[in-house]
Amino acid sequence: MLQLGSLPDRLAKARFETDSTSHITVNQGAAKAAKAGPLLVRICPAGVYSLQDDGSIGVLHAACLECGTCLAVAPPGVLEWHYPAGGMGVAFRQG
Ligand code: SF4
Repeated sequence: MLQLGSLPDRLAKARFETDSTSHITVNQGAAKAAKAGPLLVRICPAGVYSLQDDGSIGVLHAACLECGTCLAVAPPGVLEWHYPAGGMGVAFRQG
């Protein structure tokens, strides 16, 4: 029987190759108008998004798990998102 372990244990085995260029861009004006900040902070399992003191949304793209959830739920025009360049981003491993 395959033993998967806990989510934190499995994520600890993931490897990240950090791209210096972010694959996520927030349209801050659209995000502010749609009040999208709290939603993005709440739904991202990796804590990529944060609310900044000036009201903007911070993005820690290097932590992205490439799950696509933010892109699926963000109001139209708030996010530009694409996969990191080849060989960059997260690599999930088992065992
Ligand atoms: S793709 Fe997933 S992990 Fe990456 S920023 Fe969006 S919600 Fe977070």
